Amino acid sequence: MKHKREISIKSPSLRAIRNNFREVLYLEWSKRSRAIIRAQSALHDTKFSQSDKLRIHGELQAKLGENRIIIKPTIVICGWCHHRDKDAIYNPSNRQWFCPGCYNEHKEDILSAESFIY
Ligand SMILES: [Zn+2]
Repeated sequence: MKHKREISIKSPSLRAIRNNFREVLYLEWSKRSRAIIRAQSALHDTKFSQSDKLRIHGELQAKLGENRIIIKPTIVICGWCHHRDKDAIYNPSNRQWFCPGCYNEHKEDILSAESFIY
């Protein structure tokens, strides 16, 4: 998307559906992050050589970073406060979604930053 866009849902039942859908996506994303972190922790108890452990840990760290990047441009979370149950405004300059409260309160910071790391 190239232009600022606001998505606002007034219907309580549609809000509930939206929030449940976001929650499902967030839980799956979160589950993947936790699995990577568990795999990193489990490396300590393996019989791999220290250099293999470091290599595998680095690979898992890269996967964790990729997973963080996946959630960033989605409408699932606000790029500022990370809430998942609010309407959203798309900011094309950093290609992220923000809740209206954060967008209006932190507009200068949001418009000037390239991106926010989750
Ligand atoms: Zn927010």
